[in-house]
Amino acid sequence: MEEEKDTVDTIQTQIPEKRAPPREAARAPVRGEETERHMSQAETNPTAPTTPERREHNGRYDLHIHSAISDGTQSLEELVPLIAQTGLAGFALTDHDTASGWDRASRLAEEHGLDFLPGAEFSCRYHYTEDRPRTKTIHLLAYGFDPVHSELAHRVEQIRLSREGRARAILERLAADYPLTWDDVLAQVGEGNAAVGRPHIADALVAAGIVRDRTEAFNRLLYTGSPYYVPQQALDPVEAVRLVREAGGVPVIAHPMSTMRGPALSLDYLGKLVDAGLAGVEVYHRENSAEDRARLLKFIEERRAAGTDLLVTGSSDYHGAGKPNLLGENTTDAATVARIREQIA
Ligand SMILES: [Zn+2]
Ligand SMILES: [Zn+2]
Repeated sequence: MEEEKDTVDTIQTQIPEKRAPPREAARAPVRGEETERHMSQAETNPTAPTTPERREHNGRYDLHIHSAISDGTQSLEELVPLIAQTGLAGFALTDHDTASGWDRASRLAEEHGLDFLPGAEFSCRYHYTEDRPRTKTIHLLAYGFDPVHSELAHRVEQIRLSREGRARAILERLAADYPLTWDDVLAQVGEGNAAVGRPHIADALVAAGIVRDRTEAFNRLLYTGSPYYVPQQALDPVEAVRLVREAGGVPVIAHPMSTMRGPALSLDYLGKLVDAGLAGVEVYHRENSAEDRARLLKFIEERRAAGTDLLVTGSSDYHGAGKPNLLGENTTDAATVARIREQIA
C-alpha cells in the first residue's frame, strides 16, 4: 500500500528508474545475432538486479527496531546484516529503556554500510481517568540523548532496578498456580540482560508449554489487571519528554493510536506532550489504522498552522521472531532523519 509510506511534509521517495541498456555500436546486424546480444547484455549488465522491496527502501530509514538486548529475538550480529539486506539506508536501534547496544550497533552498521541513529524506547505511564485509578502505558522513542550524564539516564536506571523486583513478584504469583520458576524466566533473557520483563515471562510460559505463544500469555495471564499482574514504576510521559530534551535527545511518540496497552492516546493528551517539547509522531506504524493516521496528520497540520512543526516518522517496530512486524514495513525519509539530527543537542 504505497499511500501508507508517504509522509505529510517530506520528500517523496525517488524510485530509481530501470537503467536503459547501453547503446549498440552501429553495425549491420547479422541474422541470429540480435538474440545473442540481448542475452550477453543481461549477463554483463553492471546494474545488479534490484528487487521491488530494495528499490522501495532506497535512501529510507527504519527508526524503531529492537534487538535481543531488550525483547527482540536477534542479537545485533544477526540483526544488522538483515537490515543491510533490506536495502535501507539506515536505522535506529530502539531497545526498551537502554542504550547498551549503541556502540556495537554503530560498529556493525559501519561494517555493513548503514547509517546508524542511536535511540531507545521508554515506557511511560499516566492516569487517563480522573474518577478511577486506571493507567495507560505509552511508549516514547528518544534519539541521540546522553545515556550516561543525564537526569534521564539516572531515572531510567532507578526504574530498571525496580523492574527485576516487579518481574519476580509476577513470577511468584504465577508460580502459585503454574509450574514455572525464576530460572525458567532467566533462561529467556538475551544478551545484555537490560530489562527482565513480562515478555520474558511470556516466553518462559511458552517454553514450559503453559501457553501457545506470547499473545496467549498476555491475553490469558499477563494482561494489565490480571490476578498475576503487578504494576511497574514508570516515567510520566510529560516528564519523559522534558527529560529527553534536557538530555539533548529528540522525543518522538511511538504508535500513539495503538490500543494494545489501553485506549488510544487522546489528541488532547498528545497536545500536552507537544507543549512539553515533543519533536515528532510515529504516524506510520502498523498499530495506527488508516483512520488514525489521517487524524494524526490533521492534528500535525493544525499544529503546524499554529507555529509548531512536528516531524512525521514511520517504522517497523521489528522484534525478530517475537512479533510479525517486518523490517522496513514502514519507513522514514532521509530529510526527516536529518531534521532529527539537527535537533540533537
Ligand atoms: Zn512500543
Ligand atoms: Zn517498540
